[in-house]
Amino acid sequence: MNSPSFCNRIRIAAVVAAVLAAAAGAQEGYKDTPILPGQKWHVHDPDRPRPRTVEPGDAPGSPPSDAILLFDGRDLSQWAQRGAGGQLVAPRWTLGDGYFEVGPGTGDLITREKFGDCQLHLEWAAPARIQGAGQERGNSGVYMMSRYEMQVLDSYQNPTYADGQAGAIYGQWPPLVNPIRKPGEWNSYDIVFEAPRFDGAKLLQPAYVTLFFNGEVVHNRKELMGNTEYRALGTYKPHGDEPLLLQDHGYRVRFRNVWIRRLGGYDQPEARR
Ligand code: MG
Repeated sequence: MNSPSFCNRIRIAAVVAAVLAAAAGAQEGYKDTPILPGQKWHVHDPDRPRPRTVEPGDAPGSPPSDAILLFDGRDLSQWAQRGAGGQLVAPRWTLGDGYFEVGPGTGDLITREKFGDCQLHLEWAAPARIQGAGQERGNSGVYMMSRYEMQVLDSYQNPTYADGQAGAIYGQWPPLVNPIRKPGEWNSYDIVFEAPRFDGAKLLQPAYVTLFFNGEVVHNRKELMGNTEYRALGTYKPHGDEPLLLQDHGYRVRFRNVWIRRLGGYDQPEARR
């Protein structure tokens, strides 16, 4: 009979080591391995905090257990608007059956909580009845940190400037493709946002955005040039965490299934149960 192959011997050794470690009440891993460059951990370090356990959503697009539900179809308790004096007031956007809708003149909507690095999921629908053209058709927007707009627009057979169509980082980068659904149908955005870093007035690191539009990557960790401007170049001005903002651009755009996750580092310890 042939002796076990090299790979099989490694596998057997690993299983034996894991069983012995478990029996001794220790974490599986190694301390006689190299230190990972730029990190403080050994390769396979047993002391490295393990990722938290979370329950995934029931279906694609549904919120996992560690998400903050910004809208679950029922109420706008996580949202507010700015009054004339800048104070927070109750939302004026209307609630429908499982969605909420901006109406002309209702003003921008902001989250009561502030966010920095995050993963955001939301779904939106432009009006089913087509009215207007170009930028004047189903315009709204998702403003990360209240300043960096991911454009929402009815871009279905609706030519406009490339950096202003749905999925654009408005005024900076067009989406890689246009996967929009027909007017009235629901579209999804899944956004990974890295907040800019500042040291006093100095920009240390710009913001980056990854955006999945109806499941397609339309921005792959794209660097933002600054805040969103109209007919002008954006710039960076130092700021901390800020609310997520949904834009009132005067069109009846609907939103549903909005949830967000704060993004931490790799070495957050698992919550003890
Ligand atoms: Mg807009």
